[in-house]
Amino acid sequence: MKRILLALAALLLTLAPAAAAPLLLVPLKPNIYVVEDYFYARENSLVYIGADHVTVIGATWSPQTADLVIAVIAKLTPLPITEVVNTTHDLDRTGGNAAFRKIGARIIATQLTADLLAKEGKDQIAETRKFAPDYPEVPIVLPDTIVGDDFTLQNGAIRGLYLGPSHKPDDIFVWLPNEKVLYAGCILKPQLGNMAGADLAEYPKTLHKLKAMNLPIEIVVAGHYSAVHKADLIDKFLALLEAYQP
Ligand SMILES: [Zn+2]
Repeated sequence: MKRILLALAALLLTLAPAAAAPLLLVPLKPNIYVVEDYFYARENSLVYIGADHVTVIGATWSPQTADLVIAVIAKLTPLPITEVVNTTHDLDRTGGNAAFRKIGARIIATQLTADLLAKEGKDQIAETRKFAPDYPEVPIVLPDTIVGDDFTLQNGAIRGLYLGPSHKPDDIFVWLPNEKVLYAGCILKPQLGNMAGADLAEYPKTLHKLKAMNLPIEIVVAGHYSAVHKADLIDKFLALLEAYQP
């Protein structure tokens, strides 16, 4: 048992200044890592190592946290990070954009996400500071690659899906068909989380649209709280929404 624990510990690649919250890349599949980002409010992003380049799903909170992700990826693979997906305009998915732009990666989002980030980005810094007073003055860097509501990356190994409003008007799911992993970003979590800006009428409809696709989901990666869940997280979250009294 101890040996297994030691092996697991070795897999958790940590880059953390002594006094700061940690950021870990935890292996999920041989080519997929969950970024557990404990800065400000815990968020989980995803790293996909493809045949010849790396895709990061969720830019993490800030250029500083993104730099940590970039540094850990460099230890895992010599392949370049060529793209990052902003799965919603919130700063937990876009705050690190500047760091990815700096290394030459393209920043991918729907038009809706790009527009909302342009409109609300600056105000969101102040909103974020209400629960994270030390949140930095991040530069608002807009996506440079606009995609449609159903798009693919990594030769089809990554599929982005916008199915309607949910946690915010623009959140997308990211489906990894080969590994049967659904990255749900801010949409699905083991708790309701931040409901400010949620579309209460459309949220369940969007989740029912996801269910109606009958994707053979084996793992759902939640964007906050504990990361790794089974497909029943969708029904569990629908029940939370049903019981929610604003
Ligand atoms: Zn979020």
